[in-house]
Amino acid sequence: MIKRMRNFNPGPAALPLPVLEQVQEELLDFEGSGMSILEMSHRGGTYERVHNEAVANLRKLLDCDEDYAILFMGGGASTQFALVPMNLLSQGSQAAYITTGYWGEAALREARKLGDAREIWSSASTKHDRTPVPDEFRVDPKAAYLHYTSNNTIEGTQFHYVPNSGNVPLICDMSSDILSRPLDVSRFGLIYAGAQKNMGPAGVTVVIIRRDLLERSRPDLPSMLSYARIAKENSLLNTPPVFAIYMVKLVTHYLLDQGGLKSIQACNARKAKLLYDIIDGSNGFYRGCAQPDSRSQMNVTFRLPTEELEKRFVTESSESGLIGLKGHRSVGGIRASLYNAVSLEDVRTLVDFMEDFQERHG
Ligand code: PMP
Repeated sequence: MIKRMRNFNPGPAALPLPVLEQVQEELLDFEGSGMSILEMSHRGGTYERVHNEAVANLRKLLDCDEDYAILFMGGGASTQFALVPMNLLSQGSQAAYITTGYWGEAALREARKLGDAREIWSSASTKHDRTPVPDEFRVDPKAAYLHYTSNNTIEGTQFHYVPNSGNVPLICDMSSDILSRPLDVSRFGLIYAGAQKNMGPAGVTVVIIRRDLLERSRPDLPSMLSYARIAKENSLLNTPPVFAIYMVKLVTHYLLDQGGLKSIQACNARKAKLLYDIIDGSNGFYRGCAQPDSRSQMNVTFRLPTEELEKRFVTESSESGLIGLKGHRSVGGIRASLYNAVSLEDVRTLVDFMEDFQERHG
């Protein structure tokens, strides 16, 4: 028996075991080809089927119609921070940003290098402990787009509604909560997400873009940076990250088998509730970082009475086979990431550990 950790890593993160087993099984001889998927041409029929199936699975899971193109790109979500303004923000227009954390601020900084990007709402003054309520920000109807981050991986906050941007295209960095709950894609102009939390391994970024927005990509943009060019070539303009896309195909297939995003959401809600209940019932020993209405179902962040105890918590938990619980270096504290592949059993084990830890140190 291989010993597998209970994995609460923030990304790259836990992947479904049946998917990893299938990868292992298919590795040396993919579908009778006598080679692995890593070794064959991305122009051949075998790879092309995998590629198109990954797109089709995503379409099915997200109920996403052909008004949208689904792209596979390299460079991580961070590259999208620049590609969004490069493609969608023309000279003389302004982009609006809601910044609710480290990654949203990074997106805004990159956009400002390329054009006129304005912050219309920020949670910085309260250390990014919440997302705005729906009527707390105003979007200029002439804005080129409104950008926000649906789930703040580091701070542990999450939007529980889709912001209303009127006719302004809504752009969302959904890296850390895509495929964790049902989604009305038709509300968005563009969604992007690195795969390495809920969709697969690092190395591929999924971009879902409303086709009319492809017309904004200027023809003089370098081809690899142009959404229009990538979409026209079905993400096969150059050699795509074939192995990562193959794994996205397997993970999305697995999620469909699990009953799709509604049942995934129900399971994620149970997991998060278990953890928040233990925090709230700890008489202040564990203190949640996010305001209750903004709490993330994906990344649960909390503090202990002292930094010394937090260090101990991380050491002792990892000795018990619970890994990835250290908070991001920019904020400290503890963070448990509960992506789709983290099981209820994993969370129960963490909760038991937390009760025991409090008993010993509280
Ligand atoms: N946005 C969010 C919400 C993230 O959580 C991360 C990574 N943790 C990024 C962007 C950056 O992603 P990448 O490392 O793929 O560039």
